[in-house]
Amino acid sequence: MFKVPFLDLRVSDEKERAEIHAALEKILIHGKILLGPEVEAFESEAAAWLGVKYSIGCNSGSDALTIALRALNIGPGDEVIIPSLSFIATANAVAVVGAEPVFADIGNDLNISVESARKLINSNTKAILPVHWAGHMCDISKLIELCDENGIHLIEDASQAFDAEYNGKKAGTFGTIGCFSMNCMKVFSSLGEAGLIVTNDEKFKDKCTTLRYHGLVNREYCVQIAQNSRLDTFQAAVLSVRLKTLNQVISKRRENSAYLNDRLGKYVSIPIEKEGYKHVYYTYTIQCKQRDELMQHLLNCGIETKIQHPLLLPMHPVYQNKAKGEWVAGIELIKNVLCLPANEKVSQDQLKYVADSIVNFYERD
Ligand SMILES: *Cc1c(COP(=O)(O)O)cnc(C)c1O
Repeated sequence: MFKVPFLDLRVSDEKERAEIHAALEKILIHGKILLGPEVEAFESEAAAWLGVKYSIGCNSGSDALTIALRALNIGPGDEVIIPSLSFIATANAVAVVGAEPVFADIGNDLNISVESARKLINSNTKAILPVHWAGHMCDISKLIELCDENGIHLIEDASQAFDAEYNGKKAGTFGTIGCFSMNCMKVFSSLGEAGLIVTNDEKFKDKCTTLRYHGLVNREYCVQIAQNSRLDTFQAAVLSVRLKTLNQVISKRRENSAYLNDRLGKYVSIPIEKEGYKHVYYTYTIQCKQRDELMQHLLNCGIETKIQHPLLLPMHPVYQNKAKGEWVAGIELIKNVLCLPANEKVSQDQLKYVADSIVNFYERD
């Protein structure tokens, strides 16, 4: 049977493989293994790409978030408003620094609802931490306004949205600090774990750099509690290699998504790219009726799909008894979401097969 995997992490492009081997060879020879020259090189390339003054590589998107929160002195007694739909890391980062995540509802685009966030602000609120869901930015201009009105920080979780844009400006560069994950599953990905913190403020650049390695200044004086979150030199080298082809990867994802939009728009709610925004399609997420039946049907056809996510953050066992906020719309919305394979490695034949199989499902008697 024809098979369509949701994600294929093999490095099948020979040129890319050769470049990665060459990059590793270089590191083996120079021997500067920890925070080697590749880390700094990647940091400058990423900052230039994003159009931001400073970028600090770290070991994961999760740690990028905790470092950002600590750099802003957010901790016990503080509240941080986050969307009720995200990967668990967004909530855990807030909890790990001792602050309380407050869950805002989401809109039909699955991004944070600004109106919901507005209602949740109180004197303990220190920041809003929106996620640019699935590769499409949230309503960032309204959030900036809201944060400015209330004198609180905006921290962006742009883990799924490297290179996404609003009015030509890149995701992650709007707030006080922007956080990215480049783990191997993201659109812009390493071959393991990696993260990035960006800011235009020199003071926060210095703080984040200190927090990346145990809060140490000059490697000997610890000024703030933190962990080891250094970016691995080999992953930095891989990221520099992959940054060169990122435009092609994203173009292919956008092409695949446009094809599915054309084929599926009649049957399901297709992902929306709002005027002025650039969607990078971390996932191609539809909203549909009979989601579970469709998922099973596609599985029977050999097509792997994913529910991102079956639980809202406040529904996880660790949060459910004490979660603050509101998420009534979110509860309904997540019953209908389904992510289809549409990444750059999905072939034209596979894509057509996915579309045909969905059309068959809705056209059957
Ligand atoms: C992937 C992801 C993270 C966590 O990144 P890691 O690098 O896996 O730690 C955080 N937030 C969101 C929205 C993500 O998608």
